[in-house]
Amino acid sequence: MDIFFLGTGAGMPAKLRNVTSIALKLLEERGTIWLFDAGEATQHQILHTAIKPRRIEKIFITHLHGDHIYGLPGLLSSRSFQGGESEVTLYGPKGIKEFIDVSLSVSQTYLKYNITVIEIEDGVIFEDEQFIVEASLLEHGIPSYGYRIIEKDRPGTLLADKLVEIGVRPGPVFKKIKNGETVTLEDGRTIHPADFLGQPQKGRIVTILGDTRYCEQAISLAEHADLLVHEATFSKGEERLAFDYFHSTTHQAAKIAKMSGCKQLCLTHISSRYDRQASRELVEEAREIFPNTDIAEDFKEINIPLK
Ligand SMILES: [Zn+2]
Ligand SMILES: [Zn+2]
Repeated sequence: MDIFFLGTGAGMPAKLRNVTSIALKLLEERGTIWLFDAGEATQHQILHTAIKPRRIEKIFITHLHGDHIYGLPGLLSSRSFQGGESEVTLYGPKGIKEFIDVSLSVSQTYLKYNITVIEIEDGVIFEDEQFIVEASLLEHGIPSYGYRIIEKDRPGTLLADKLVEIGVRPGPVFKKIKNGETVTLEDGRTIHPADFLGQPQKGRIVTILGDTRYCEQAISLAEHADLLVHEATFSKGEERLAFDYFHSTTHQAAKIAKMSGCKQLCLTHISSRYDRQASRELVEEAREIFPNTDIAEDFKEINIPLK
């Protein structure tokens, strides 16, 4: 599981940073990629990476500001030409369906794959046997969501040798124990799964927030997360400006990280007023409050290791 930043700037594309898009690479977990936002030229950024658009399984849009969605129609269209045939599910605030429908119909774009668009509200927006995704409304000029991606715990591996040792043969009993069921054997012995399974594998939690002012909802979304990706459009001391423009400062992002008990913070959505040197100062500011802070750069990857 890796987070790969395709664009890390705020508002307008700049030479140093393109507008927002973040890939959550789940190649080992499910052979797919989940994309969070698709600012203009996201597909151009992808060209410089090993990411295959046909692998994109889900796209989560935080909010409908142009710097987060103008790259969508082009990306969806190109995916069709690049051999993308599998279905894409797109999640986003109310209005995203109209944006997609109008962009594709006016340009007479026909996709070779199915696309399902789900307009979300607060709560669980996706769940399968591997993952749960929760969304919660943040505080921005227009509705903006944060996403909490929870990987479910995986049961430990079956200790097959140990079962064979006590005379159990591979077959249905093995399967039941693997599924965590207690089994009574024909000879009356009871087999408890805990004795024949290795350590369960703890799932990981990643929180990716849309643009937001400092707000409480961000804390619950990031609770005990392995990684929190939080916007930091402004430097510390610019709280007034951040409030007026519905954004956050480095210190505010760091406070959210600290209060949520998350492990690592990565700042993104950096204003173009900050050059490379100033970016380094932004990290230092956040570290005053939350030491394990990093700052996103275009094409930077962060691995989220198993626990
Ligand atoms: Zn933005
Ligand atoms: Zn915005």
